[in-house]
Amino acid sequence: MFDNHAFAKLARRIDGFRDEMVDLQIRLCAIPAIAPASGGEGEAAKAEFLSAYLKDNGFRDIALVKAPDLDAPAGYRPNLLAFYKGISSSRTVWIMTHMDVVPPGELSQWKGDPFKAWVEKGRVYGRGVEDNQQDMVASLFAVKALQAEGIAPPADIGIALVADEETGSAKGIDYVLRNNKSFRKQDLIIVPDAGDEKGTMIEVAEKSILWLKFKTLGRQAHGSTPEKGVNSFKAASFLVTALNGLYQTYAGRDGLFDPPISTFEPTKKEANVPNVNTIPGEDVFYMDSRILPKYPVADVERAVRKIADGIEKKFKVGITIEVQQKAPAAPPTAAQAPVVLALKRAVKAVYRKEAKAKGIGGGTVAAVFRRAGFQAACWSKLDETAHQPNEYCVIDNMVGNAKVFGHVFLQD
Ligand SMILES: [Zn+2]
Repeated sequence: MFDNHAFAKLARRIDGFRDEMVDLQIRLCAIPAIAPASGGEGEAAKAEFLSAYLKDNGFRDIALVKAPDLDAPAGYRPNLLAFYKGISSSRTVWIMTHMDVVPPGELSQWKGDPFKAWVEKGRVYGRGVEDNQQDMVASLFAVKALQAEGIAPPADIGIALVADEETGSAKGIDYVLRNNKSFRKQDLIIVPDAGDEKGTMIEVAEKSILWLKFKTLGRQAHGSTPEKGVNSFKAASFLVTALNGLYQTYAGRDGLFDPPISTFEPTKKEANVPNVNTIPGEDVFYMDSRILPKYPVADVERAVRKIADGIEKKFKVGITIEVQQKAPAAPPTAAQAPVVLALKRAVKAVYRKEAKAKGIGGGTVAAVFRRAGFQAACWSKLDETAHQPNEYCVIDNMVGNAKVFGHVFLQD
């Protein structure tokens, strides 16, 4: 039975923590944790601060998992795991957030110092305050509230604060899953690093990503004598329209996703000749494909090559295709997985809304869990200001999400 009385007390306690939550946001923001690959020093200082915070706030068995990284001044990238004891240890309810933040970008675009967070109209502004500190702070205070109320949750709680999410997770959760046995298949794993403004999207699946670069080689000639050359731009244009046929070849739909289809879109175009009166001998464009998980990526690659072969023949050009990024979709988390059902119940109780399992176009860190065989779900109520100038966190979302986590913690 769900203890509604305990939850009501917990929710009130979380409301009482509102100012402390904002304060922790500001203190975390002041420790920029930018990846070495993006010109920063990594997360070591932030992890040291958080480790002390966890110790002071009732967490036990705090573990620091160091992923070696010679590019970071500390020589490693820190991953923190901390626990709060429940009545049973047969499973753990995890909330995983990441410590690293992306660089602020152009400072002229900011209304203030991105690393001196400020509060304005119910929001905290600063780099990292939404991505991913909003829910990091929410998860810590959900546990703090349990402790303050003397509530023992039905199951153990695990808080994972990881490194390297913004640059691929190889030294973050990927490293932790390979080198630490704390996560178990029966655990509930919540990754609040994707979501929407309403808080009704529970992300369980991703499309495969395939980015291709097409280089078409013809022969340059004077604009007045095209017959002496081979117009690479013209051939590439026919190629672009032929590639649109992929929409028919892979026309399957999956209602979990929005849009419910695979997409194949020409995107970036490199400049060719600088003047109008030259037939271009070389043309380069790119395509961004998001493919439903039921289609093998290799299949699509073969179909693309076949289309290119046809254009080569017809226009007497050479076409090379280079993979820029290829990320086959991880096996999806079931729409009825325990973690999804628990989140639905909690969102309904806190926000009075029906959340739904959904698939997205690709790119959340939950895929690392799914590839390793764990049923992780992404959920958060947030305004999606990550990576933008004047990134902000709606304080009501931070407090409300803490209640959602608290609700999940109290479920059997
Ligand atoms: Zn993030």
